[in-house]
Amino acid sequence: MPKDFLKDAKSRYDVVVIGSGLAGLTAANILARQGRSVLLLEQHYKLGGMATWFKRPGGHIFDISLHGFPYGMVKSCRRYWSKEIADSIVQLDGVRFDNPMFSLWTSFTREDFTKQLIEKFDVEPERVHAFFDKARGMNFYDDQSTTTRELFDEFFPGREDVIRLLMEPITYANGSTLEDPAISYGIVFSNFMSKGVFTFQGGTDKLIKQMEQELRKNGVTIAINCDAEKINLKNGAVESIEVNAKGATHTIDCDAIVSNANLRQTIFRLVGEDKFDDAFIDDARAVRLNNSSTQVYMAMAEDERLEVSELGDLLFSSTAPYFRTEALLSRDITSRTYSFYYPKTRPEGRPRCLIVSSTNARYEDWADLPEEEYQASKQDLCETTLDALEQYVPNVRERVVHVEASTPRTFKHYTAHIAGASFGTKFEGLAVSRALPQQITGLYHAGSVGIIMSGWLGAMNYGVIVANEVDNQLMNAGSRSTAGVEQELASKGD
Ligand SMILES: Cc1cc2nc3c(=O)[nH]c(=O)nc-3n(C[C@H](O)[C@H](O)[C@H](O)COP(=O)(O)OP(=O)(O)OC[C@H]3O[C@@H](n4cnc5c(N)ncnc54)[C@H](O)[C@@H]3O)c2cc1C
Repeated sequence: MPKDFLKDAKSRYDVVVIGSGLAGLTAANILARQGRSVLLLEQHYKLGGMATWFKRPGGHIFDISLHGFPYGMVKSCRRYWSKEIADSIVQLDGVRFDNPMFSLWTSFTREDFTKQLIEKFDVEPERVHAFFDKARGMNFYDDQSTTTRELFDEFFPGREDVIRLLMEPITYANGSTLEDPAISYGIVFSNFMSKGVFTFQGGTDKLIKQMEQELRKNGVTIAINCDAEKINLKNGAVESIEVNAKGATHTIDCDAIVSNANLRQTIFRLVGEDKFDDAFIDDARAVRLNNSSTQVYMAMAEDERLEVSELGDLLFSSTAPYFRTEALLSRDITSRTYSFYYPKTRPEGRPRCLIVSSTNARYEDWADLPEEEYQASKQDLCETTLDALEQYVPNVRERVVHVEASTPRTFKHYTAHIAGASFGTKFEGLAVSRALPQQITGLYHAGSVGIIMSGWLGAMNYGVIVANEVDNQLMNAGSRSTAGVEQELASKGD
């Protein structure tokens, strides 16, 4: 008999959270802390969504999306998770760029970028300050019609080198392009520039383990290997969810649902378009998915050491003469971002040096390849990456003991994101995501949409916003569970 992963779940919860990406995990934690009974469903056998890792023989642990995030993670983790989690966040030692236009090292702060733009790129100081002030002053309610390209043209006309410096890292951080709204660039760029780039010491596995412990402490029922298949409604409101727990089907009643699944999957697969207004469905259909990624994972032999002072933590490398979205997405790879992981990444584990090369990619370029061609293309990806890496890590082929690649198909397989989208949907997805509860009472979406709300920090913060909205809705509906009230009264008495 296959194991029934929901056999210990109750038949009713205040809130069901579909998906354990950082937005889903955070929403579940906050709602449980607020006294709600919460069921967290995850279709994969591991929690974390894109915030994930995998192990290989020899003690190698590869992180998928732990390359860098803004300082804001410290505050969000302390407030919505625990001090212990926040205390593991550390700054990266060095970020590097190497392309035909320039090579430089930076701390990736406003101070250092200002200095480099003035001294190395010869831009007038007033212009640099004005650009940073404008980016910093941007907020979500600003004009959304100006594109990032237009923003750059206003401050740095004709300066392709400056645009590359300012844009390339953000494209890697959230898949945004020069054609996206300038506000989505400005907000994310300013977040990074406040203090630099940060990482989680101990690795993604440690973070997710600590989050799981916190969720269990706060009373969340966690069910892995559970695919949410259908959201049932009654009189325009959420009534229950149907879950396939590896063969066993369950229906769980609930007052609210937070879907951390892909926005389009939520609307079209889990609910069904006939349950929404026509105008809403038109908007939902127009939501574009973000691009996907390929990665190559390389483990150095046990006695091989890489030096952070020589390589840095993050290297944005490119052989393309200019920064162009087309070139970034092409199968003919010219741009790679290397993350170098040293023993300091997992100080408690076995000392290991690892390299992950990441590249933006299109799902269509990989989706329909016949199996043999697909495997050959993955092998080619590994080989060309090793060739490209040779100039930074001499004799790399002799020094690595494990090399493998992932593609947009891999990301789709593990996270059920349509087209393996690494960063959910494009900007227009945010308005659709926000409008869900007006269409169906009790149905919310939290997860990568619209650039600002994606990436580790964006996803987590979106989970916070949505959890508070769900709590308000439940409070207004007067359905606060007795257990929740008791818990709150008890904590007030502390
Ligand atoms: C290669 C790569 C590199 C990245 N690098 C960085 C980086 O350096 N810094 C950064 O900040 N961000 C990075 N990101 C992005 C970041 O990892 C994501 O934006 C973020 O983790 C997404 O979180 P999320 O909450 O939107 O959910 P997701 O991670 O998308 O998770 C959604 C979850 O829902 C589950 N699910 C889906 N459908 C169902 C269903 N029907 N039933 C049950 N469960 C379901 C999935 O299995 C998954 O666990 C990177 C992403 C990729 C792919």
